[in-house]
Amino acid sequence: MLGQKGKGRAGEVQEGRCQKDVPRDTSTVSDWGENLYGDPCHECGFDWAISHDEAIKSVVNTPRSYAQVLADADADGSERDPELTWSVGAYICHVGDNMRIWAERLAGVCRGASSVVASYDEGLLAVARAYEGIAIEAAMWSLERAVEEWKRAVEEASVTDIVLVHPDRGQQSLVDVVRSNAHDAFHHQWDIQRSIRAGSRS
Ligand SMILES: [Zn+2]
Repeated sequence: MLGQKGKGRAGEVQEGRCQKDVPRDTSTVSDWGENLYGDPCHECGFDWAISHDEAIKSVVNTPRSYAQVLADADADGSERDPELTWSVGAYICHVGDNMRIWAERLAGVCRGASSVVASYDEGLLAVARAYEGIAIEAAMWSLERAVEEWKRAVEEASVTDIVLVHPDRGQQSLVDVVRSNAHDAFHHQWDIQRSIRAGSRS
């Protein structure tokens, strides 16, 4: 429940923007990511102990990092590992949409909404948005803008002590959200790189 471990009285956040007189909470209330993926992630090697600031930098660098991976391989986004559901381009669409959705959740709570956020189905969203038909240039455009919005939402949320309640992940402090978002971008870069390697073998 909210308030366990002495954190996260999200109901205190009211009236538009986050209050600025509440000390920033840099602590974590969730071990969802470590439990699900391992620490470090047994696939991509992500270290869940990454600091709040380093995790933000990692997310902010994602468009540049993805662009470099694509340029190095001269990839067009259609590359695919047969073991994976999505192509390279679809992963980029997903990371952009995921950042946008988490930014929206943070912004809502900062503006006085309930701390309980809804989950979304990434597979259904991929179908509804027809990820496989979105050009890589367009996907990268969306990713760049989603990350900019995400950074602004995190900065706004950083001035207070919020805990989101997610149906699958449970309580999520801002640090938990930032780390899990950083992991999503990092893990999918790993997926993109192995998709490109698989594509070059076929
Ligand atoms: Zn991972």
